[in-house]
Amino acid sequence: MKNIPKELKETLSKKFPLDTIKVKNTEISSDGTKKYLFEYHDNNSVEAVLLRMKEKELNEEGQVIKSEKYTFCISSQVGCKVGCSFCLTAKGGFIRNLSAGEIVAQVQYLKKLNEIPQNKSVNIVYMGMGEPLDNYENLIKAIKIISELDGLAISTKRQTISTSGISSKISKLGNENLGVQLAISLHAVEDDLRDELIPMNKAYNIESIIEAVKKFPIDTRKKVLFEYLVIKDKNDSVAQAKKLVKLLHGIEAKVNLIYFNPFEGTTYKRPLEEDMKAFQNYLLSKKIICTIRESKGLDISAACGQLKKKEEGQ
Ligand code: SF4
Repeated sequence: MKNIPKELKETLSKKFPLDTIKVKNTEISSDGTKKYLFEYHDNNSVEAVLLRMKEKELNEEGQVIKSEKYTFCISSQVGCKVGCSFCLTAKGGFIRNLSAGEIVAQVQYLKKLNEIPQNKSVNIVYMGMGEPLDNYENLIKAIKIISELDGLAISTKRQTISTSGISSKISKLGNENLGVQLAISLHAVEDDLRDELIPMNKAYNIESIIEAVKKFPIDTRKKVLFEYLVIKDKNDSVAQAKKLVKLLHGIEAKVNLIYFNPFEGTTYKRPLEEDMKAFQNYLLSKKIICTIRESKGLDISAACGQLKKKEEGQ
């Protein structure tokens, strides 16, 4: 625009940058998972992941009968304060919160880079780097921008907040009645073990999390997802499955069992398939929906924080 004074142009570009992200690195898995390392204006970077949940299906005439489905895994902080013992991001400590704009930009860029039309809805989970509820105000602002019709028009029903369990913030979030979905990274049924895996459990123990979840407003057709990272000889016994069933009593819950995949420097081991199955079967026998999940993109840096670590040579 030629009719704006030079000084004002400089001020505008400093205060209202249009390009907020640079793509620093990309990895593409054979299963279609794409992992991006996005860099912000201050050289800090975060990971964002595109998961291809369903391929497009065409009929013989080449018409689309089922369209493809994507889930975006979005980061909320550079680094993280929670300090989970199984997580690479935790090893780098906490650097800073992302602004609402920086969170929204990840969604915009994943769409743009993958030529996903603006009007195509995607699922979003806030479970990349960082604890989303530890960056509460910016997260809520981002969710509103993403869901507004004048924003990205992705319904709050398609947005899931995955938290390691800051119970006071789960209650606060519930009171906002935004219509978002909730996922809890539980990973353990005893506080002793959870203290080891997620040190923040000392401040927000299992009981406080379960209480907060029970009061959380959930769409009647939906369930709260409990993520359970299974580590060999730590939390993979049927006795622990029994305790989990007791804990979830009275909650519309589904459980995702995730194989722990060892990374360099960890002492935790991958669980055996038969133990995973026995755990799952017990939950199913008690009418709790339970799926077993491999980390997607196993042939790339699948664990959260791995791509960043690789890039930085930490
Ligand atoms: S697993 Fe999530 S909450 Fe835990 S340290 Fe890593 S990024 Fe933070």
